[in-house]
Parts: sequence; C-alpha cells; structure tokens
Amino acid sequence: MRDLRKYVFVTGGVMSGIGKGITVASLAMLISRMGYSVTLIKIDPYLNVDAGTMNPYMHGEVFVTEDGGETDLDLGHYERFLGKNLSKENNITTGKIYGNVIEKERRGEYLGQTVQIIPHITDEIKRQLRDVSEKNASDITFIEIGGTVGDIEGLPFLEAARQMMIDHGKENVAYIHTAYLPLLPTTGEIKTKPLQHSVNELRRIGIQPDMIVGRSPVKLSEDIKRKISLFTNVPESGIISAHDVPIVYEVPLVMEEQGAGKHLIERLGLQYFKPELDDWKDFIKRLVEANKRINIAMVGKYTSLHDSYLSIKEAIVHSSSLIGVKPILKWIEATDLEEGKLKVEDAFSNINGAIILPGFGKRGSEGKISAIKYLRENNIPLLGICFGLQLSIVEFARNVLGLKEANSTELDPYTPHPVVSLLEEQKNVNKLGGTMRLGSYPIVIERGSRAYKIYGREEILERHRHRYEVNPAYIEKLVDAGLVISGWSKEGKRVEIVEYNKNKFFFATQFHPEFKSRPLAPSPPFIEFLRASIS
Ligand code: GLN
Repeated sequence: MRDLRKYVFVTGGVMSGIGKGITVASLAMLISRMGYSVTLIKIDPYLNVDAGTMNPYMHGEVFVTEDGGETDLDLGHYERFLGKNLSKENNITTGKIYGNVIEKERRGEYLGQTVQIIPHITDEIKRQLRDVSEKNASDITFIEIGGTVGDIEGLPFLEAARQMMIDHGKENVAYIHTAYLPLLPTTGEIKTKPLQHSVNELRRIGIQPDMIVGRSPVKLSEDIKRKISLFTNVPESGIISAHDVPIVYEVPLVMEEQGAGKHLIERLGLQYFKPELDDWKDFIKRLVEANKRINIAMVGKYTSLHDSYLSIKEAIVHSSSLIGVKPILKWIEATDLEEGKLKVEDAFSNINGAIILPGFGKRGSEGKISAIKYLRENNIPLLGICFGLQLSIVEFARNVLGLKEANSTELDPYTPHPVVSLLEEQKNVNKLGGTMRLGSYPIVIERGSRAYKIYGREEILERHRHRYEVNPAYIEKLVDAGLVISGWSKEGKRVEIVEYNKNKFFFATQFHPEFKSRPLAPSPPFIEFLRASIS
C-alpha cells in the first residue's frame, strides 16, 4: 500500500473573497482524477468553534456535512468538485485549536510548561492536519488557509505551515499562493505590484511559494506571467491564470490547460497522469447549451448576499444542466413582502417556480407566508426547504384549516395553534452552538407518493439543520385537509416531507437536499422542481 502523506498549503493575498476555495477544489479535483487520493481542509482563523453561530451575512451559507458539522461554505465547493463527502474535521478554526489546547492544559497534559502559541498552538494545528490526512488515508492533503497573508489571526497557521516542510521534507510539502491582480480601467493594464507585496509578506514569514494562482478579470498574458515569475522566484510553469470565467466549474479545465496539475504533482515528486475530464466537460457543455429560460423566484431574507444560499444556487445549476433549462434567478426579499414594499402579485408575475429558502427567526417570516399563500392559490410550483416546509405548514393551517393564529413557536411562543414546535429533545438545550438536529439521518418514503417518484426508493439519507418540527398533534388535521406527509424520519417518526398534490408541484422538505447535490449527481427534488417549472 502506498503511503504518501503529502501536504499542499494554499494561502491568499491582496484581498479575500476571490474564490480561493474554488482554486483549491479545482486543483484537488485534477489531482484526484490523476488517480491520487486527496482530501481538503479549510482553516478559518476566527475564534468561533464553527460557522454555525454566525449570520450568513458574515461568510455566506453555513454548509452542513454528513456527520453534522456546521462548516464554512468552501467545504461545499470541495464536496461538489470532488464528488465526495467530507467530515466536520475538515474545517479547522482558531476556536477549535485553542479550545483543545486549553482543555489539555486543564487536564494537566502540559504540566510544568508555559503554554504558548509556539510551540503548543502550532503543534496542535499540525496534529489536527495530520490527523485528518491519516483518517482519510489521503496521498495529498490540500489545506486552504482562510483570509489573506498578513492577517494577525492567520499567523499561527502560517507558522505551522512553514514548520510542516521541516517536519516532512521539501518533497512532501508545497505552497500555493492565490492573489488578486487588479485591472486598471484607465489603461487596461494588469497590475502585479499588490501580488508582489503579498508574496514578500509570505516570504518574510519563511514560506516561498511553489505556485502562484493569479485571480484576475482577464487572462494573464505570457508577459505578465514572466514578470510574476521573475519577482516571485516561481518558475513560469507554476504561474497560473485563474481569470474570471462564466461558470465556476470551468476553473479545473482552465487550470489543466495551463499545466497546473502537472506542475504541482511533479513538484511533489510524483508522476503526472492526464486527468479524465470527459464527464465534467459534458456537464459544462450541457449547461452552456441549455437555452430554455425559466424564471425561478428565490424567497429569503438574506437575499442581498446570494452566497447565503450557495448550495441551493448550485443545486439549481446541477439540475439545469441535466434537463437543459436556463434558470434565471429572481431574488425576492421576504422582508419587502412583509413590509408592503413589494406586492406578491408583482413579485411572482412571470415566475415559473419558487423556492422558499431556509431561515431563522421572525424577520421576513410573514412575507414568506404570504408568498406561499400566493403560490399555492395560483398553482405555481413551490419547493420549500426546512424553514420553507415549516412556513408552508403555518400557511396551510391558517388559510386551509382556518386556524388564523397558527404559527411556529419559533416566531410566536404563545400562539394558540403551535403547528410547528420545538423538537422534543431540544426542550432542555440551552447552549446554542452545535446543538441543532444536524447532519445526515435516514428518511422513510411512502410508496406511491410524489416523493417516491422523485427519489425512486423507500429510504434516503439527507442532511438536516433545525430545532423545530411539524407538531405531531396537528398532523391528522393537516392530512384530512389534503396535505400528504410522504417522508418520515426513521427514528421517532417526525415529518420530513410534505406535498400538496392538488397543485402541480408543491413539495417541501424538513431536510436540506441542496447539500448533497453534485454536478454529476443532481439532487432529485431540484430536478423535479425544475421539470415542473417548465411544464
Ligand atoms: N428555524 C428553523 C428551525 O430551526 C428552520 C431552520 C432552517 O431553515 N435551516 O427549525
């Protein structure tokens, strides 16, 4: 058996939010398609233990792993590009590192010592990196360090990255630096100076990059590549242009064309094999050729940051390639509906289908409920996800069952008709971090239902992130009024899927199907939702 254990660190320069996660995911995918086993780790240098307690406006969506980790959205990119599930351990934060070190100190594991950032924090970082690499038996472990070089928060991680080369040897550790190259609009010139500065900063810390990925609005010319090579001491074959492309899934192809995978794998002393990319290219080709336009409404309350719903957006892309449609997303801010700034008739005129997005808390919830009412009454295809299912139940109880004050206890703890209420096991939970019903659970599907048609099987596994559920006391009434509960959790018989088949497509899930959607294996509810929206 091969035991390679190689590490590739990816740092960022100039500014954040330039798609470093996509770069890492793309390179890892190329290497994995050469036949090497890879895993990816995201380091987030913030003190939160995980992303679960943050508002999506901070860093975008909270991605949920099979094992119930609430992680950075980059893990979503990694899973989608690699087509493989990762664990919560693949997201390391400052909070996790310091938490462990402090716990160990209290247990007396460092007895007699002064516990310090170097070596105790850096040792803990290295331990966790090696641990993930070993557990995954991965030949090559990619480690993306969040933020940009020079941030105070990132320093211990960069120091650990530097030490890894001493510990494991030069042929087993490589460094990639991804930085932004601005285009001066006045002269149309690409400027390399900010990148030169960030590479200098990296070197000051003791890291010499082996590859530079230049993010820029336009393709980097050979001249610019030569200039970057000269200033950064990276051979020209290691200067890669990651210019803007219309579809993020094209990035691996753009990189392979320039020999990025070859440069990296050879730097690690391994043999290059041409990666098999035909299925990926077909997926993109279908996406580009899809020309039937449909308008899909995205109803949420974090709509000014579309990354808040990243996996849902991507799940739509995956399905649209499969069935050959070109969805145009119309973002509808639920708060605007609630405050009367936007009328439902106007919001949904020309809409072929709508997704009621996941969410938390009161703001915007009445807006979402009025949207659901309009969609249900006008027979417009609706896909409700998590909070979207819960609010569909509230709407149905109010307007079909006539329980005017029905609500979720999350929104009104004193409602006389708590049709959605706290999960039994949540009643004694008072710590909010990492305590929701999280991750993958089995769901049993009723034969003969729409859900059964969609999934084609009786048992599925999907990921969850919620504290509330449909109150079992109201199920009978809801079913008598025409609602179908077609999916139940295997443990405890809780509502997982709701459908209303008087309508063309009215389908809501307590789980989040978007987290398991992949370019080459789109999520079934999204496929059927889009199909219903074209017809
Ligand atoms: N706020 C709801 C709950 O906690 C729904 C959560 C969600 O949409 N992810 O149950």
